[in-house]
Amino acid sequence: MSKIHVIGGGLAGSEAAWQAAEAGHEVVLHEMRGVRSTEAHATDRFAELVCSNSFRSDDAENNAVGLLHEEMRRAGSLILRCADANKVPAGGALAVDRDGFSQDVTEALTAHPNVTIVREVIEGLPPEDWDNVIVATGPLTAAPLAEAIKGLTGEEELAFFDAIAPVIHKDSIDFGTAWYQSRYDKPGPGGTGKDYINLPFSEEEYNRFLDALLEGDTAEFKAWEKDTPYFEGCLPVEVMASRGRDTLRFGPMKPVGLTDPRTGKRPYAVLQLRQDNALGTLYNMVGFQTKLKYGAQGDVFRLIPGLENARFARLGGIHRNTFLNSPKVLDTELRLKAMPRLRFAGQITGVEGYLESAAMGLLAGRFAVAEAEGRAADLPPLTTALGALHGHITGGHIGDGKGSFQPMNVNFGLFPEMAAPSRDPEGNRLRGKEKGRARKRLITARALQDLEGWLGQARAAA
Ligand code: FAD
Repeated sequence: MSKIHVIGGGLAGSEAAWQAAEAGHEVVLHEMRGVRSTEAHATDRFAELVCSNSFRSDDAENNAVGLLHEEMRRAGSLILRCADANKVPAGGALAVDRDGFSQDVTEALTAHPNVTIVREVIEGLPPEDWDNVIVATGPLTAAPLAEAIKGLTGEEELAFFDAIAPVIHKDSIDFGTAWYQSRYDKPGPGGTGKDYINLPFSEEEYNRFLDALLEGDTAEFKAWEKDTPYFEGCLPVEVMASRGRDTLRFGPMKPVGLTDPRTGKRPYAVLQLRQDNALGTLYNMVGFQTKLKYGAQGDVFRLIPGLENARFARLGGIHRNTFLNSPKVLDTELRLKAMPRLRFAGQITGVEGYLESAAMGLLAGRFAVAEAEGRAADLPPLTTALGALHGHITGGHIGDGKGSFQPMNVNFGLFPEMAAPSRDPEGNRLRGKEKGRARKRLITARALQDLEGWLGQARAAA
């Protein structure tokens, strides 16, 4: 049986390698870190989380992200197994100890008898005798390989900027001001209802902070970067602030569901900090990705009540993103139409986020296995979260790939429509938001049912 080559041991490549190895195939995983790093990675471990430590909502009944978690668990995902094993309290979210998580992924792949790990940079197109290749090199794909791919697709490289948020040492936060509380005291799975650290602003403090933020010195763009847009889902905090004085107060700094114990009242605005490691010694600033210069970050963020003496374990920054115009250049099995021995997975396919990248790794790994076994891949039903994402990047049910293609997190908008029920199972009439919630529950129930059918087919084919 021919080998499956996976280039890139990030979120997608690790999952792809695992899926193929677990299906009994020999996998060679080529990862450059250890030889060369990227602008964002700090270690040579597989599946390193470069910014937030959160895989977002774990609510499989009401949330498309939580649903994707559950589908991946059922499909034997390594990333979800290691995330569950390294969970830290984060309300209803699945957040992890980043070091423990990537250490577990690294150990699982290293110990797998079907996986060979090679630490090397793939400098251009892979050798011609690699006939089943998964390219999972991520948003920071090393330049020579990115150039080679660009040469094949004939597409102008698409790029935009993402930004990352700072991380703070908890023992430098002033708990005379800060308090623990999850929004609306919602405990979420494994949470306590007190999973976040909150920093309150009065109107005056908010305005002072906003002025400083807007005046703060930001990192310079290089000439070629000037026309590159931001990804709307991950805007730097100072860019959001520039859109209006209340934008932050109604966005990442919204105070709803939070009560300052010193006053018994809802503050004017709140910054939330989320636990970043298992020990609970580090917390990240939720929604505070930034491109302020390092010196300015310290000055501006120490104006936040409770952070006057904050020590930063990591400051924020910006990075480029690289992704294909997938609906146009990939086929439904994620192969490059111009060179079908290359299959793509992860953020480079135009999904956004750790989880979504891993999900596309899961599919690419399974598709590569089908190819190695000489059969057509079973595509996930469009009604599942895996299928909805796959549909987004391959054009599926959402269009013909001719329109503007933008990276996307998983969300209910990608699923086929389902009418909201007018009554609950007891026959009571549903109204407004209740209807919306009931509709989501129908979508998630249908997804898990259809997923079981898809997994059953895959088991039968193996
Ligand atoms: P990666 O995890 O980046 O893995 C790609 C791997 O390929 C890397 O290990 C790299 O070293 C290797 N590689 C690259 N080129 C080569 C080559 N030529 N030869 C061999 N190996 C190569 N998503 C979130 O959900 N939350 C966040 O907070 C978040 N913040 C981000 C911050 C930054 C700075 C960046 C860059 C991205 C962020 N993302 C975030 C987006 C995205 O989810 C992650 O980048 C995610 O890691 C993508 O998974 P991936 O497997 O596609 O790529």
